[in-house]
Formats: sequence, structure tokens, C-alpha cells
Amino acid sequence: MEPIQLPGNQVTAVILGMMQDGGLPHAGCRCQRCARAFAAPAQGAHAACLGLVDTRGRETAVYLFDATPDIKVQLNLLAGALGPHPQRGGRLRQPDGIFLTHAHMGHIGGLPQLGPEAMAVSQLPIYMAREVGQLLLTNRLWQPLVQNLQIVPLVAGQTLDLAADVQVTAVAVPHRDEWGAGTFAFRLQGPNRSLLYLPDIDTWDPWPEAETILAGVDIALVDATFYSHDELGGRAPVAHPLVTDTLTRFAHLPTQLVLTHLNHTNPVLDQGSAARTAVLQTGAHIAYTGQMFRL
Ligand SMILES: [Zn+2]
Ligand SMILES: [Zn+2]
Ligand SMILES: [Zn+2]
Repeated sequence: MEPIQLPGNQVTAVILGMMQDGGLPHAGCRCQRCARAFAAPAQGAHAACLGLVDTRGRETAVYLFDATPDIKVQLNLLAGALGPHPQRGGRLRQPDGIFLTHAHMGHIGGLPQLGPEAMAVSQLPIYMAREVGQLLLTNRLWQPLVQNLQIVPLVAGQTLDLAADVQVTAVAVPHRDEWGAGTFAFRLQGPNRSLLYLPDIDTWDPWPEAETILAGVDIALVDATFYSHDELGGRAPVAHPLVTDTLTRFAHLPTQLVLTHLNHTNPVLDQGSAARTAVLQTGAHIAYTGQMFRL
């Protein structure tokens, strides 16, 4: 896929992937959607990732939200915004920072690509929950990589200023948590508009603030892993709400809902499917790579 042309002189959030952690195709899957994507990679899609690009300054600022197993493609989508490496002309400049929502595979699986065997970044700021940082710092497997990162611990509710009029706030959400490390959504505030990035949440019920927080942003990118119980073959949903439930709860809000983090089983992926039509009829959008939101 060709690098994305970002507009000049503005702050833009850009979708760099919209699949669940395993992407499309999914390892070991022989469903029709995955078979098509194995045969024709252009039919596939990458794990959920958001870029934040500020082209107003002398130097463009570039941030990633989550380091997915597809990070090398996702960084290349931002090649124009990143520009050349200051010392190594044949390479891309490293991003200005990466925010991690949580420690599941689709959200940290790209970190090894930043290490000495691949991009070899230098003192790259990585923002994450303090406990996720501890997991990285205390595991010897990650040590050669971690030495070249600048791990910046965040606590829930903390706001960072990326520019005088660009802020990122960490918002704690309930999500499957093997290490007691927590999961963040991120609220991005730009000069004109705000956006919530919420790729993973278990269900909405244990998070009573959900409606207030979604209503308090212009755009909400939300977990749309599974559409309905049908695609789960009778199994209970695994640590994610159903799209049908999400739309029932939030489609009435003035907020623009954008569905992301879709599982390879999700019929919303299919052009013209009844599920996709039903989603679009509520006014919600379905995220696609290259989709941009001016903030
Ligand atoms: Zn995920
Ligand atoms: Zn599949
Ligand atoms: Zn997760």
C-alpha cells in the first residue's frame, strides 16, 4: 500500500489498521474471508492502529497509538509525514512517540520491530500504564529492545500536552487483564475536535462512565470485534462487546461512532452484507485504512 498523503498545516488522526489483534488473514484460519486474504493480500487488513500527525510546525510530529504486529507497514504508510532519518538518509525518521493501550499481542506485538534487529530506534518515547512498563522492564527477553526506548509511565486520568493545543488523556477501561496491568483508551484533543480511541473493552456494563465519555468527544473509535452471537458458534463473546449492543447503547449520541478492531469472523467486513448495511443505517462508520479525521 502506498504511503498516505496527509494534509498540511493541521492536526490529523489517521487510521492505519482496523482489525482485531490477529489481523486479516488470521493465523491458522481457513474461513472464506481469510482464504481470500491469503490468496490476495490486498484483500487483507492490518491490526487496529491510529496515527496522530501534526503538520503545522517546522517539523511534522507523528505519534502512533499501539505497536501492532503490522507496525512496519503502518510506519511506511506514514513515510511522507515521518520524512528521512536525520543521520541515515535511506531510512525513515522514527516517530515522536508511541502510546500503548495495553499488553495484548495486537497492541505490543510490533515492539520487537523497533529493536536492534530491525528499525533500531534511539530513545523513542513509549507511553503506557506504569504496570505495562514494569512488565517490559523486568523481562530479560525484552531487554535489548527496551534499552533503546524511553518508557514513560502513565496513570489513568493523566493528560499529556503534545503541543499547546493537542492533548492526550489516558482513560482506564475494563478489559481482560492477565497481569493486573490495566487497559487504557486514549482521548485525543486537537485544536478543533476531540477523538476517543477505544479498541478493546470487555463489555460496557462494568464501565458506567462510558456514555458520558463517548458523548464528550466528537469522534469515538470503538471496539467492534464481534457483530453478534451468530459468528461465535454459540460461544460467549471473548472479552469484547457485540457491535449490536454498542449501537443500541450509543448510536443516538451526537458523537460520530467509528467501528474498529474487527475480528476476521465479523460479517461487517463484507461489502454489501446485511450486518454492514445495518451498521451504516445507524449512522455509524466502519473504519478503513487511510481514513482521516481533522482534530
Ligand atoms: Zn486487541
Ligand atoms: Zn478467518
Ligand atoms: Zn486486548
